[in-house]
Amino acid sequence: MTGTGNHLEVHDLHVSYGQIAALRGVSIQVACGETVCVVGPNGAGKSTLMSAIAGGLRSKDGRVTLGGKDISSSRPEDIARLGVSLVPEGRRIFSTLTVEENLKVAGYLRGDSKRSASVMKEIMEMFPILGERRSYPAGRLSGGEQQMLAVGRAIMTEPTLIMVDEPSLGLAPKIVDQVYAMLDKIRRERGVTLLINEQSSTRVMQYATRIYVLRGGLVQLNDAADNLRDGEAIKKAYFGFADSGEKKAQP
Ligand code: ATP
Repeated sequence: MTGTGNHLEVHDLHVSYGQIAALRGVSIQVACGETVCVVGPNGAGKSTLMSAIAGGLRSKDGRVTLGGKDISSSRPEDIARLGVSLVPEGRRIFSTLTVEENLKVAGYLRGDSKRSASVMKEIMEMFPILGERRSYPAGRLSGGEQQMLAVGRAIMTEPTLIMVDEPSLGLAPKIVDQVYAMLDKIRRERGVTLLINEQSSTRVMQYATRIYVLRGGLVQLNDAADNLRDGEAIKKAYFGFADSGEKKAQP
């Protein structure tokens, strides 16, 4: 999906787990080709938001549209077919399967083995380390390589929107930079739109065009990344109070 207009629109989503309200009226917009980051602390509702967009959880109210098409009641497999791919938190690759087998499994979903083989070749050219490690069991890859594989797996279905849930989780800062460079390369070269969840805005700031701060199931802040570079507004929205001057980890 290229061109102008919003690729994804989420309007007033409400999702609960029994008595726990995880999303309490969340609205976000993601334009075609943009990198949008949802930043928020543990339990803010970030993963719930991605699951709801992907059709894994139902909203009591609200609407999700993809390229203008209402997908609020669509099944996850139909949403995937419409071009949405989710890289879940913790990556969830098949550790006993090889790199190549992990990619193949993702390709089976599309049911076109010729096209899958050609996309796999493209992925390995784009990220040569995956090509070099094609016969390795995925569990033997480093954390950064596993994240790369998880993203590669998401690309196998040739999505137009990739949602990545906390790509930096458990990775050293240098590796996080590599993962972000990789995501940005995919966005530029394959023309995809990126929606990324993170607990900290520090590293994503360089790549994001727009930032949403989510806390307590509500959007606390939404602005262009360029307007948020000094970190003050993010800090306030993230913690829910103005900075006391006390030293805290950067949200
Ligand atoms: P994290 O960074 O820890 O993954 P998050 O921002 O992704 O946090 P969610 O995982 O979406 O937040 O959780 C939002 C709220 O919903 C939290 O209060 C969480 O405890 C609750 N929650 C999430 N999953 C479940 C579940 N399967 N059953 C019950 N409550 C859940």
